[in-house]
Amino acid sequence: MIRRDRPVYTVTIARAVAPMAIIAFAATILFLFPPAQYSFYPRCPIHEFLHLECPGCGTTRALAALLHGRLAEAFRFNALIVSLLPVAGAYAIRCYFRFLQRKPLLWLPMPTAATYLAFAVTILFTVMRNLPLRRF
Ligand SMILES: [Zn+2]
Repeated sequence: MIRRDRPVYTVTIARAVAPMAIIAFAATILFLFPPAQYSFYPRCPIHEFLHLECPGCGTTRALAALLHGRLAEAFRFNALIVSLLPVAGAYAIRCYFRFLQRKPLLWLPMPTAATYLAFAVTILFTVMRNLPLRRF
């Protein structure tokens, strides 16, 4: 007779720990090797070729600054990403629990107005951060 409870338990633990381990590993790399001091991080192709800052430019530096507890510096690197981090965190937690329950990962249902607002804010942020007047 084959006992099925032990392998399932092991797989469940691995399934629960794997995403946390990946996030912890990435956070450790970011904490120990800040992008401002190490050049092995990928560079933004939009910034490289067009010399414009896309909505994601500065995300890695902002996350590294947050890991070091420097919120103001993180906002200077990318205010949009830092502002959206609580929303992204809540979404990640929801996805994590769906992953644990072996349910398919789905996009959150989002009202159409919120989608348009998110696009408008992102476009406005991108335009504003590329103006010579003020840096975001
Ligand atoms: Zn970019």
